[in-house]
This record gives sequence, structure tokens and C-alpha cells, in this order.
Amino acid sequence: MDGLRADPLARPSHIPGGAPIWAGDMTTHSASPSPASRGPDPRAVDDRVTPFHIDGLDVRGRVVRLGTSLDAVLAHHDYPAAVKRLLGEAVALTVLLGSTLKIQGRFILQTRTDGPVDLLVVDFAAPQDVRAYARFDLERLEAMQAALPAGAGFDSGALLGHGHLAMTIDQGLSVNRYQGVVALAGEGLEAAAHQYFTQSEQIPTRVRLAVAEEMHPGGAPSSWRAGGLMVQFLPTEGGRVRPVDLHPGDAPEGTDLPETDEDDAWVETLSIMGTVEDVELVDADLSSERLLFRLFHERGVRVFDTEAVVAKCSCSRERVMNVLSSFTAEERGSLVEDGKIGVTCEFCGRTYDFKAEEVVEAGAADESAAQG
Ligand SMILES: [Zn+2]
Repeated sequence: MDGLRADPLARPSHIPGGAPIWAGDMTTHSASPSPASRGPDPRAVDDRVTPFHIDGLDVRGRVVRLGTSLDAVLAHHDYPAAVKRLLGEAVALTVLLGSTLKIQGRFILQTRTDGPVDLLVVDFAAPQDVRAYARFDLERLEAMQAALPAGAGFDSGALLGHGHLAMTIDQGLSVNRYQGVVALAGEGLEAAAHQYFTQSEQIPTRVRLAVAEEMHPGGAPSSWRAGGLMVQFLPTEGGRVRPVDLHPGDAPEGTDLPETDEDDAWVETLSIMGTVEDVELVDADLSSERLLFRLFHERGVRVFDTEAVVAKCSCSRERVMNVLSSFTAEERGSLVEDGKIGVTCEFCGRTYDFKAEEVVEAGAADESAAQG
């Protein structure tokens, strides 16, 4: 935490409005359903984030369903299935968090770890563009997979290993740059997200992520889907979120420690979140509203306008040139091959070719401008 300013993701806010999709047995509100309430929309729509509020539990949250957008992000890369699956989880998490940025800006999730997949980068540009890439060691990945017992599930924690996860919010002005860092300790992205919100922001948070590869008949290429669900406990009365107890350092390894002396509403939320199955998150026929209804209808759910997600890379010839111009003459010189500099975008694989003179001239112009 560099502590430049409060984390915009953590800003507690009560969301007014929203269409109640169920106004059933809510203890804090009128027992009779509001005239505006309707049943959950059964139409399942991909590539959308649905924000929601559960008044009866003081919980706000978001559901994301990714279909074509995730498939397009992953299609740029010739990665093994396990890497695509892991990157898909990271994309779902990034979209859940990044889509809370209301104004222009970027949310960047990056891992640096010692596992077979040592780097993940997901870049979300508000309001809707996402792109991503991974770096991995194929030999180590194959060795790990060969050592897995038959039928063993996908283990994102083992693929990542130990290291850290950084989340950067860049709203375009240097003063507004914010970075939060949390340890990755072999337990994967969901656990790291919980850790981040509990320790850094003291907002009880639960995240579920799931990715599925859909096989198609007749030898057609498979396609990828992902789903994510995030809930956060933000009581309207003060004093209900208690500070996290310090970890008792002498507890034996693997001891299941209570996070804190929890509020009943949050305990109930956690118990419901514990029932969410991967298949519910990636089911193309189950709408986000029906999923929320299934989980939380007894407590009243309000949903808000959905937000679109699109796979899009923001690279351009001009941007690449700007990066090259920021290098020293020596650095630029080392990139020249056959009188050309070729740059490939890590996110989308697009290649940009520059004549060496072009880049040198741009750099020289920049340097003289900086001196003048
Ligand atoms: Zn690109």
C-alpha cells in the first residue's frame, strides 16, 4: 500500500434506486412487495456486469458473465488450457473490480509469482474494455500436470505459486494513481482478493470465480466462458464491521481461524456464498438475475443497470512510438534489426514495424523538447 489516497474501490456507498427483482421477506423494509418489483429476468446475457444490493443483509455486490469477450481476449494467445483457465479467472476478477470505476481510468491487475505461471496482466479500461496476457514456463507447467493424480481439479493456487498480486488504479493523473499489493501464498486469486479487502480496507468481501472451456462438436475450436460473483458487507449503521484480530502467530499450520467475530448478516451471506457452484457461475442458460434470485430472494435483491464488457486492446502505432521515444538512444539502438524496429503487443499480438530513422528522429525531437 503506498497510501497515496483512499482506495476508490473501497469507498462505501449506499446505492439508491435500482429495480427490485424480489421484495419478499425483508425484515428492514415493508413486508408487502413493492409495486415496482418483478420476477428475475430469465434472459441470460453474456459480457455483462450486474450490480446488486441485498438490503436485508447490508450487502452490495456484482455478478459478471463473460462469453464472447473472454473468448476473444484468450484467442489472441496460443496458451495451454490451464493457462487460459487461470487467465480467465484473473479477467473475471479484474472486470468485477474494474467495472466499479465510474469515470475514465484503468484498473490493472498483475501477478508476479514463482509458480509455472509467473506473470498475469489484466488491463481494464473504463468503462468496458478488457485485455490480458500471461507468461509461463511450459516445461514446469507440463511437469506439474503430469504429476497430478487422475481427475484432480484445476488448482489456480499451484499454477501461480507464491509472490504478490498488485492492483493499480490509474485515473490518468499521476496524483490519482493508487496501488494495492497483497501476498499470493499458493491459494489463488479468490483468496488474494479476500485478503486484500479484509486487511487493507477492512471491508468483508467474498469472491467466487469460475471458468469453463466449452467443447463444440465436429472439431470446431472450443470456446471459453467465465463467471464471477462478489459480495461486500457495508452496513448502513456504523460499528457493525469489527476490526480484524491479529493472527495468532503460534497457531499450528493449517488451523482454520475465524476471520473475526462476525455480524449475523455477514455470516448468513458467507453461508450462502459457500453454496455457489462453479457450474452456476458459467451456465450460459442461467441469467445473472435468476442466479441472484436463487441465492438471495429471501433477503430482497435489487439489481441495477448492467454494464457491458468488450475485449479490446488500446495499442496503436502512436502509443508504441511514444514508448519507444521514452527510451534512451542506446536502448533504441539495441532494438534495431536490419534497419527496423519491430514491436509486438503482448496483449493482442499485433506487430508494429518502424524504420530505425523514424524512431531515432522521434526520440531526438522529444529530447530537444524536454531541454527547451
Ligand atoms: Zn494490442
